[in-house]
Amino acid sequence: MAAAAPKPEILAAFEAAKGFMPLGEGLALHEAALDAGRLGLPLLEVGTYCGRSAILLADAAREAGVTALTVDHHRGSEEQQPGWDYHDPETVDAELGLMDTLPTFRRTLHRAGLEEHVVALVGRSPQIAKIWGSPLGLVFIDGGHTDEHANADYEGWVPHVAEGGLLVIHDVFPEPEDEFTGQAPYRVYLRALASGAFTEVSATDSLRVLRRVRAGI
Ligand code: SAH
Ligand code: MG
Repeated sequence: MAAAAPKPEILAAFEAAKGFMPLGEGLALHEAALDAGRLGLPLLEVGTYCGRSAILLADAAREAGVTALTVDHHRGSEEQQPGWDYHDPETVDAELGLMDTLPTFRRTLHRAGLEEHVVALVGRSPQIAKIWGSPLGLVFIDGGHTDEHANADYEGWVPHVAEGGLLVIHDVFPEPEDEFTGQAPYRVYLRALASGAFTEVSATDSLRVLRRVRAGI
């Protein structure tokens, strides 16, 4: 089942976007999103940042005729704050002196021609998850990398993944020496497998795709 690759203009928009998603993993995400899109349910991302991966989710959502949802408070993760390794000074709102990736995300999405296929949910992931009440075709976890954040994303969003739907996790590093920002995503991946509700579909570098095969979590 060879999934359609994104069109050249989508790939160009993806390559031009600021962010933390390498091309190979992005293509695996896109393929998963096309697959999950067949369920006719929304595809949700935790961790918008400047919209790099959201472009691919949105393109797949457009193909499938569903909506992509993307959650972020847009104030950046711990490791993206001033003084830390993943900080980008261009993401700081000069007036407030705080990170704000929402304007860049909006520009990125508009330039990619994908605005109408995406609903941006601006706020803290657990707070939004708490009031969320409908099934999702895909949940992509790419938010905060502390155990607190990664576990909250898992507990908040994974219960909404429909049967046959996909759970995609980024930054899964089984070897401690390979990781950049901690192994919480790896531990969440292990939790999903241990639940018995998911089986692994594919692994592309640090991106894991799991399918829900039974109810629970
Ligand atoms: N998917 C992006 C990268 C995401 S970086 C890409 O392709 O480039 C992680 C993002 O998660 C950051 O923008 C940060 O603001 C967000 N984040 C971290 N913890 C969060 C939380 N608890 N709620 C909402 N967003 C959060
Ligand atoms: Mg990531």
